[in-house]
Amino acid sequence: MTRRLVLATRNAHKVTELRAILAEAGLGPDVELVGADAYPEIPDVKETGTTFAENALLKARALAEATGLPAVADDSGLCVDVLGGAPGIFSARWAGRHGDDQANLDLLLAQLSDIDAPHRAAHFACAAALVLPDGTARVTEGRLTGTLRHTPAGTGGFGYDPILQPDTETRTCAELTPDEKNAISHRGKAFRALAPQIAELLR
Ligand code: IMP
Repeated sequence: MTRRLVLATRNAHKVTELRAILAEAGLGPDVELVGADAYPEIPDVKETGTTFAENALLKARALAEATGLPAVADDSGLCVDVLGGAPGIFSARWAGRHGDDQANLDLLLAQLSDIDAPHRAAHFACAAALVLPDGTARVTEGRLTGTLRHTPAGTGGFGYDPILQPDTETRTCAELTPDEKNAISHRGKAFRALAPQIAELLR
């Protein structure tokens, strides 16, 4: 019997990415992954949690309740050491308006302008959550650690990618290919850790 798993995103790219990770983890064609846009009548959830894990769980739980299907959600952001972990869960709206990547990046660079390289450590963090219709829940987390550049570089990716240089790299995330970034990314790590748990709970 084919089981349907719904992912709390309307971003087709994220659905394709997760499909590949789940296939790699051994989830067969009997699990059909669909994006939340297959359910346009379901409203977006307010992210009222105070951690990535809480927000990922909120989104997955709401979608599982609304669809009656197992649901997966993620929440992510950039955490800067010298800012005590900010922007963190506020990453997407750091400059005030949700999703204005350029304004968010410009504000962060201005705030850090006097901070020298040794103190510019930061990481991307991601929590991935699975919630079943009966309320069973699992959360995993992943990190990508690095240093923040003073000047953006690269045209790939999104958000803060042009200023985060992973510890293992001489390039910024925006200069990596999508495959190179997925292999080391916070999201890739969180979903690869969740995949075996999805396989086990859907069995
Ligand atoms: P969300 O989890 O899709 O809501 O992402 C939250 C915000 O965190 C995004 O708008 C970006 O600003 C930032 N962010 C999360 N992951 C990444 C990444 O892989 N690269 C760059 N920025 C990211």
